[in-house]
Order: sequence, then structure tokens, then C-alpha cells
Amino acid sequence: MKGKANTQKVKAFFKKNIYYIVMVVCILAIAAMITVAVVLGGKSSVETPDTTIPGDVTEDPGTVTPPDDSGDTPVVTDPEPIVFTLPVSGGTMIKDYAMDSLVWSSTLKQYRVHSGIDFAGAEGAMAVAAYEGVVSDVSYDALNGNVVTIDHGDGLVTVYGSLDTPVVSEGQTVAAGESLGAISTSATNEMSDGSHLHFEVKLNNEIVSPYDYLTIGDK
Ligand SMILES: [Zn+2]
Repeated sequence: MKGKANTQKVKAFFKKNIYYIVMVVCILAIAAMITVAVVLGGKSSVETPDTTIPGDVTEDPGTVTPPDDSGDTPVVTDPEPIVFTLPVSGGTMIKDYAMDSLVWSSTLKQYRVHSGIDFAGAEGAMAVAAYEGVVSDVSYDALNGNVVTIDHGDGLVTVYGSLDTPVVSEGQTVAAGESLGAISTSATNEMSDGSHLHFEVKLNNEIVSPYDYLTIGDK
């Protein structure tokens, strides 16, 4: 009987307080809805995608000027080695170049250095330019006779002594193989050697070996 009494008490309690209960339930429901709304809303705002693209600083590649090095840097190539034409066509060497040793001078009757190569040839043979250049000097002196000097540029000069009357003049541009004058005995310091060309090579005003430029010999 006691249980039935309790049940009735509970029923009575609900019956008496039904409005409060409904109200509390409604309040709880509203509170729950607000909570859900807040949570979802917060979540929503967090997940809102950022429309600004970070690092969007792409430069227009069209405005970039590539380095222009064409024509600024000279192309460095090894120069072609200079090879002389034999300065007396068909000539033969009668006295060798000898700056490091002494050779007998039949004219001066003594051993001397020889600053060039002497070439003999047929009667009236012409001395010719060993390489293209500009005639820089035409002169005469008793020792070396008629002398033609050709400037080839870059300090390279060839000297042609013991010539007959030169057939070129100062300032004239000559090609390799071009006639300069007939070989002769005009160089009195070598006159007993007969008609010949005394051929010298200078680099920056210093006597150098003609063999540096001639394909004959191996000195
Ligand atoms: Zn000589």
C-alpha cells in the first residue's frame, strides 16, 4: 500500500507542478538549441575558407630582361700560327741563322754571329715578302746594302738585306710572295758570299729565329 501511495504522491507532484516542469523542459531545450547553434556557428566561422591567396606576388615574367651578353665579350680564339713563305722562291740557304754560336764570315775574315738566314738563288732571283704586311722602311747602307723592312703587326717585322734596287716603296702594302727586289751583293759585309738575300726576323725589336716562322729546318 505504501508503494501505491508514493506513486500517487509523484502523480500529484507532476499534476501540481506541470507548468513548471514544461517550462524547465522548454528552457533546457532552448538552451540546448542555443548551445548547438553556438557550437556550429563557431565551427562554421573557423572553417570559413580564407579567400586571400598568401604569397600571390608572382611577377610578370615578361618584364624580366634577360642579360644580353651578345657582342660584349670578345670571342677569344688562338690566332693562327704565322707561317712564312720562303723569302727567295726556289732559293737555297747558304748561311744559317746563328745567334747562339759563331759562323765564319769569309768577307770579314772572322767568326761572327749571324742574325738571319742567307738565301742564294738563280741569277736575278727575287726576294719576296715572307708574309703579308706593310713596307715600313726602304733604305741603303754600305754594310747591309739595300734593305726592305716589312711590318706584319703585333711587333713582328721581317728585314730583307743585300737587295738590288728595291721594287717596293715605304707605306706599300704587300702580300706574301710579293717581289721586293732582286738578290744581290749590295751588302758589303757579306759580299764574298755572292748574290743572296740576308733575311732577318724581329719580334718587338729583338732578333728572333726565322725558324720560328719558317717550315724549313728544325731550329
Ligand atoms: Zn747574312
